[in-house]
Amino acid sequence: MSDRKRFVIVGAGLAGAKAAETLRQEGFDGRLTLIGDEAERPYERPPLSKEYLRGEVADKPYVHPDAFYGEHQIELLTSTRVTGIDLGVSELLLEGDRHLGYDRLLLATGSVPRRLHVPGADLDGIHYLRTVGDSELIGERIEHGQRLVVVGSGWIGAEIAASARQKGCEVTMIEMASLPLEGVLGPDLGRIYLGLHRDHGVEFLPETTVERFEGTGSVERVLTRDGAVLDTEFVVVGIGIAPRTGLAETAGLRIDNGVIVDEALESNLPGVFAAGDVANAWHPFYGRRLRVEHWANALNQGPAAARSMLGQDVSYDEIPYFFSDQYDAGMEYSGHATEWDEVVFRGDVAAREFIAFWLRDERLVAGLNMNVWDVSDPIRELIRSRRPVDAGELSDPDTPLSELVEKVGSC
Ligand SMILES: Cc1cc2nc3c(=O)[nH]c(=O)nc-3n(C[C@H](O)[C@H](O)[C@H](O)COP(=O)(O)OP(=O)(O)OC[C@H]3O[C@@H](n4cnc5c(N)ncnc54)[C@H](O)[C@@H]3O)c2cc1C
Repeated sequence: MSDRKRFVIVGAGLAGAKAAETLRQEGFDGRLTLIGDEAERPYERPPLSKEYLRGEVADKPYVHPDAFYGEHQIELLTSTRVTGIDLGVSELLLEGDRHLGYDRLLLATGSVPRRLHVPGADLDGIHYLRTVGDSELIGERIEHGQRLVVVGSGWIGAEIAASARQKGCEVTMIEMASLPLEGVLGPDLGRIYLGLHRDHGVEFLPETTVERFEGTGSVERVLTRDGAVLDTEFVVVGIGIAPRTGLAETAGLRIDNGVIVDEALESNLPGVFAAGDVANAWHPFYGRRLRVEHWANALNQGPAAARSMLGQDVSYDEIPYFFSDQYDAGMEYSGHATEWDEVVFRGDVAAREFIAFWLRDERLVAGLNMNVWDVSDPIRELIRSRRPVDAGELSDPDTPLSELVEKVGSC
């Protein structure tokens, strides 16, 4: 028994759970331990700002049924924090002074919300959203239709604002940029999201930030830098996340905006891997490192890391993908656009039923489909081709995307 190898996964989120599943699927028959500091078994986070937050589904969005871990001889340790790694002797230190040796280690420790450090930030009623418990707390508050100030209009802030409006809250959103989601999507799409939120009654305050919170015990007012005073019953802060690298850093792994790993998701220390939100992985397609903070990345990188742990030849080069649901606007985004020359639209933008294409040097670098479905595959193929695509054909709804894929394929 003791000569069987032990693989340990730290972080029982989506990446960790999918890695454990894959190890067993791929025939790993050694000891397998999945450790998480939350009380719950692994669950998915996207519903926490959407249907679970609004109380539309009662069941927690678990990755696997309860019996799964036992059935697959996966030792799942919940409510257990790993406090240290001794890389020299390949041993983890667990809360309560327990030690656990490993042969291969996967870090899937995810990320944490960035905190707002302003006067009054410790008042009750100021929330952050990461865990199922956070979602339940915020969910109780939006149930009562109270006034809400959302700080930040990235994905989390925008989705919370939408869910709160759907539950009848009065919502004000404060944003440092000029438009919601501008940092990721740019001004064209930012304006579309601004229209979406305004049409649903959100008050949007651009180019400002929180100066301080005021209240007696609990937050009652938000004062902005430009002098607005917003009476409120509660606040949700969504100003981005930071990778949870503390453990890796103290162990001496290379860190730079996440745990640095190669395309096989292995760190600078052989036998130690990282996946999911915490991994800043070399991406062979982009020829640079990429840290992706989205569901599909955790879903795919966990299994890829597992295969790599087993010594299989892995080169993780998935085109990034994410989705968001706000009100009746569902969208998917594929690609990674940091610089572009133009954004070309196909479909009915006013009706919020369209595809947006980001072009750089006539090549497609990203595509976003809103309320249009089953187009992510051709979008990804066009991106992967790195071939020039005609903007006129992209915007023409009578030219099927499959035809454009064939065309670039035959060049
Ligand atoms: C509210 C919300 C909504 C989202 N919606 C979307 C969406 O619509 N679309 C989309 O693409 N993405 C969405 N995401 C992002 C997506 O959920 C994340 O990218 C994904 O959860 C990352 O998974 P992960 O396994 O890498 O990390 P996590 O899910 O963060 O899991 C890491 C786990 O490791 C644990 N851990 C950390 N350190 C230790 C330690 N030292 N010891 C033990 N355990 C530890 C953490 O507590 C956590 O449970 C959303 C995220 C949130 C929070």
